[in-house]
Amino acid sequence: MTAGIANGIAEGIANGAAWAVVVAAGRGERFGVGYNKVFHPIRGRSVLSRCLDALAASGALDGAVLVLSERDIAFYERLAQREGANPLVRAVVAGGASRQQSVLSGLRALPGDVRVVAVHDAARPFASPALIRACVQSAREVGSGVPATPVRDTIHEIDGQGRARRALARDRLCAVQTPQAFLLRQLLAAHERYADQPATDDAALYQRAYGEVHLVMHPDCERNIKITTPRDAESAAQPEMRVGTGHDAHRLVEGRPLVLCGVRVPFEKGLLGHSDADVACHALMDALLGAMALGDIGRHFPDRDPQYEGISSIELLRRVAGMMRDQGYSLANADVTIVAQRPRLVPHMAEMAQNLAHALGVGVETINVKATTTEGMGFEGEGLGMSAQAAALIRRG
Ligand code: MG
Repeated sequence: MTAGIANGIAEGIANGAAWAVVVAAGRGERFGVGYNKVFHPIRGRSVLSRCLDALAASGALDGAVLVLSERDIAFYERLAQREGANPLVRAVVAGGASRQQSVLSGLRALPGDVRVVAVHDAARPFASPALIRACVQSAREVGSGVPATPVRDTIHEIDGQGRARRALARDRLCAVQTPQAFLLRQLLAAHERYADQPATDDAALYQRAYGEVHLVMHPDCERNIKITTPRDAESAAQPEMRVGTGHDAHRLVEGRPLVLCGVRVPFEKGLLGHSDADVACHALMDALLGAMALGDIGRHFPDRDPQYEGISSIELLRRVAGMMRDQGYSLANADVTIVAQRPRLVPHMAEMAQNLAHALGVGVETINVKATTTEGMGFEGEGLGMSAQAAALIRRG
């Protein structure tokens, strides 16, 4: 039944580990490409690889068992060679005739000391790391965590002839998704007990056994769509693009180092501020937070808070990059303009761009840093202070 299970899989797994069982054993017939839809590329990367990327990026999981139909295992091995094998996947097992049987095969392949399991459909490549973490955390705290969204359409119950018989009260309905996280011991017991009684998902089985499941109504459920038809893949192929701008200014004073984009620039004055007053970093962070609609740096790193006193703004930028990853965003490009009469910044531009790129975890070609004077006009021109502007384009999906 199983293939490619790593030897000694249980070794080195800490108590309380959380693993995923990723189910991709269906045929995906509605998709109509003649092969399993999870191997279908969305903008150059398969649905399955995107799904595994998101699980790994959550940081909430110690491993994953991938459940494929027997005939897809060789296909997966080729895919892993092409797109890179995700190290989270520790075993690949063959699924059964139904989804329920496939999940059970996956659960049985988990190491004995796994505490929490998140069962996830590989056809949901857009589950955000934050959503995955919320589900796993809920399972740790209350035994289960199942992502759910309100239902927008009115749902009617139909009879065998397709005639609508009854409209259901929408405010008492929700749509549930995956990853569905549970305590492994409980979920496994429910599966074994109801192995002969079909259920549409693990939440339904768990409910049958224990009465209720805990729903995780997370904003990221909105885009956690299931790829079912080529149309879904097509619309998912359009990444969500968002733009943000940032502007900041600081006063120049004596007795402070001048730090711009993390570079200590030799000068007789430095910028005054609670942190290192890196005006360029601040403008860029505001652009990124603005693009995510998360307010500004004052909201996240308040200057009244002593923990940010003298802190490197590059460190704060790193944290903003973490927020972007959490929300599933990546940076398309950013452009930063420093407005300063003196000193000459050109010799430092390359190092500045490097620092920003490094903090954001992107290639240096993603970042542009430039500087201008104001020909002696205004506070920058008079040397009273410096300002900076930034624009950032981010994408998701
Ligand atoms: Mg500032």
